[in-house]
Amino acid sequence: MSTHFCSPPPESPPWADDDDPAQILRAHRLRRTVPRRLILAVLAEAGTHLSPMEIHRRVALRRPELQASTVYRNAATLTRHGLLHSFDHAGLTLIGLSGHPHHHLVCDICGGITDIPSSDLAAALDGLPLPGGFQLSGNAQLLRGACGRCRQDRIAIHDLKAGV
Ligand SMILES: [Zn+2]
Ligand SMILES: [Zn+2]
Repeated sequence: MSTHFCSPPPESPPWADDDDPAQILRAHRLRRTVPRRLILAVLAEAGTHLSPMEIHRRVALRRPELQASTVYRNAATLTRHGLLHSFDHAGLTLIGLSGHPHHHLVCDICGGITDIPSSDLAAALDGLPLPGGFQLSGNAQLLRGACGRCRQDRIAIHDLKAGV
């Protein structure tokens, strides 16, 4: 799968030419073990964030012999090396791929999470100096609010009550 660059320069990000788990691990100089490859694969297939338990459940569908502790330990290693990121949401720890830097729009009403590319937020904040030269990190901020669907519902309920 080729995506962002026609011919990736040598120093291109490890994700630039492929989302293949083996390539990602190689780019990070990490051993390409089965648990690591499967963790990256199930997250890529899910296309969203998963709890450690859910990651293990999906990994175990393919390799039942892999224990939860093995999966958790390897997920922690991948997180430490920046391949994954994690955050707490609704009492769960959620883990996602870090290959495409993004922040999370978290709906306080339905609990839905929508990703927004970090570059979009950086562009929106461009020219807005943050206090003390503060700079947001490139990945995994939680931005809380209400999603469009919940806002629509709220407006509808409000209209109903108001007899509109
Ligand atoms: Zn994320
Ligand atoms: Zn919502």
